[in-house]
Amino acid sequence: MNADAVKPFFIYNTLSRKVEEFVPLHPGVVTYYSCGPTVYLPQHLGNMRSYLFTDTLKRALRLNGYEVRHVMNITDVGHMTSDQDAGEDKIEKTARAEGRSPKEVADYYTELFIHNLEMLRIEKPTVPPGQFCRATEHIPDMIALIQRILDRGYAYVVHSGVYFDVEKWRGPGRMGRLSRQSLEEQFAEQRLEHASDKRSKHDFALWVLNQPGHLMQWDSPWGRGYPGWHIECSAMSMKYLGETLDIHSGGLDHVPIHHENEIAQSESATGKPFVRYFVHNAFLVGMEGAKISKSSGRFPVLADLVAVGIDPIAFRLFCFGAKYRSELAFSLDAVRAAQRNLDYLTEFARGVPDGIAHGADSDWPQPYFERFHEALNNDLNTPQALAVVLDLVGESYRRNDKRIWNTLARMDTVLGVDFEGIRRRAASERLPAEIEALRAQRDEARKKKDFARSDALRNELLARGYEVKDTPAGTVVQRRN
Ligand code: AMP
Ligand code: ZN
Repeated sequence: MNADAVKPFFIYNTLSRKVEEFVPLHPGVVTYYSCGPTVYLPQHLGNMRSYLFTDTLKRALRLNGYEVRHVMNITDVGHMTSDQDAGEDKIEKTARAEGRSPKEVADYYTELFIHNLEMLRIEKPTVPPGQFCRATEHIPDMIALIQRILDRGYAYVVHSGVYFDVEKWRGPGRMGRLSRQSLEEQFAEQRLEHASDKRSKHDFALWVLNQPGHLMQWDSPWGRGYPGWHIECSAMSMKYLGETLDIHSGGLDHVPIHHENEIAQSESATGKPFVRYFVHNAFLVGMEGAKISKSSGRFPVLADLVAVGIDPIAFRLFCFGAKYRSELAFSLDAVRAAQRNLDYLTEFARGVPDGIAHGADSDWPQPYFERFHEALNNDLNTPQALAVVLDLVGESYRRNDKRIWNTLARMDTVLGVDFEGIRRRAASERLPAEIEALRAQRDEARKKKDFARSDALRNELLARGYEVKDTPAGTVVQRRN
């Protein structure tokens, strides 16, 4: 842990409806589960706001010295067209419409999702390292958890499936812990058909039985069938992170049903608190009428922004520029304003020479870093943190002193713009092509640990009048004066 680890970190906990100081269960380590995509359509910009929020929270926790053990799922079975089990399986619906198998549909949209994350420089989960947990690869874990719930008497088996007994769990008249709604309020707007053999309309499916038309089916102690949507998150989060998680997040829409049900399933099985801090992002709104080429009839996606010349990182800055708990109105003009901020920062980064980038900072930027850090620790006040970054760069121009690079690089561990990459690309652009080729070959040789070749390339560059430096980001080449 670094010296900054002592600063308290505050976050809004939906469980208490308060901003609380975050204290993990085990010192220095944060266990974090965030709900991932249902892979049956491209993820729209609203969804991407949710993943950007997760990414920022992870990065901010790391800035505070924590190791973040983060799990994210991919829902590739069991999410019905209504969150309350009614309707069709979303993946199978797309599969039928497109004449593909459910696996083909899920694989295609999973890849697209991961590509979108990469474009936004969103880091992948850390548990398992760099991987997403696919629901279809965790069926035995779900079956085992359902069995535990049955053993504790909070579920029952009927012809159409295994159901969670919501009223028994919640007790008469009790409000939902997260939503603070009664069951009647929660279901008031629901006008869909439910299985008629459920004991109560409030019960939700843990395992669905006797649906011969469903394409994906597995054997279980109760018969062939498939899991309900909610059980996957309980099973996968507890498998990798333990029975009590520090943080669980998702969009606000998950409060009344999905997360309420996850709590019920997990706590009825384990008898332990499931989550210590539930954190929810507000919605990106105003996408309905968004005028972006080719996007008519659906919500805009990242590719729509790219098609009109917007850098995906501008969308990252656009989201960073709003508090995660505030609704954010989407418009092209607003994203273009974020693009102008990105251009401003990019131009600065491109103009920082190697000598300054690899040297020490001046003293004056330090308080800027403190302010940046404090803003993030204050319930992720990203708009304030972004303002500090822009101020720092402005002040650097005013003082005509670019020795702020290390400070900016530390801020970038959360902001995620990749200032060093921008600077290095700009520096490389200025090199003659044959020198840049030698530089790239040397990076390649070092990656392969071919030190003989890397030394030979260094000598070649030296002979041509270029200095060679090894940095964590790779080979930096500069003409000798
Ligand atoms: P889904 O694929 O529908 O399960 O959504 C993936 C994630 O995006 C969930 O955490 C949702 O809560 C979140 N989400 C959905 N729509 C929006 C939106 N318009 N703005 C922000 N987050 C959203
Ligand atoms: Zn979930």
